[in-house]
Amino acid sequence: PDSLERLSSTIRDVPDFPQPGILFKDITPVLADAHLLQEAIEGMAEIFAGQKVDKVVGIDARGFIFGAMIAQRLGAGFVPVRKKGKLPWKTRGVDYSLEYGTNSVEMHLDALAPGERVVLADDLLATGGTAGAALELIRQSGAELLGSVFFIELAFLCGRERLEGMGPIHSLLKF
Ligand code: IMP
Repeated sequence: PDSLERLSSTIRDVPDFPQPGILFKDITPVLADAHLLQEAIEGMAEIFAGQKVDKVVGIDARGFIFGAMIAQRLGAGFVPVRKKGKLPWKTRGVDYSLEYGTNSVEMHLDALAPGERVVLADDLLATGGTAGAALELIRQSGAELLGSVFFIELAFLCGRERLEGMGPIHSLLKF
């Protein structure tokens, strides 16, 4: 509807960031608009309305913004998945492959308990590498995954296919 239209047109396309050839979706204009921010968070949280959610897991760094606000809205706790070496306590880690080289994300060992009902949140689904690693961390914890939610899905990169078998995938805006 109308508000999705306004959200889409408020996202800023930045060419050649962070590297030549990449068209970066800049979501900061959405965050800066009180009304649109609320629309975005409500739209993402609504997907899980009526379900008991114990924890929302957010991915470093913009996933912290969306994830924490969704958690608050759902009456759930928040758990950060961070880039390697950032979390202070005992962690489990998962490596994943990028176009060039590998990356690694971590979660605190005690962040999720077996059987807890969990949602994954991030700002953007591109190739699915990052979300796949976070979903593997959730799987290893023994928590129950309800699904993943992204503000933006770059559908032409087929991240959804990479996440096949890793629970329901939801996105508010698709490009
Ligand atoms: P993927 O692992 O290829 O799916 O990339 C997704 C991760 O990279 C997410 O954590 C995003 O925050 C980040 N990302 C990739 N492309 C963009 C973009 O165009 N805008 C904002 N974040 C992006």
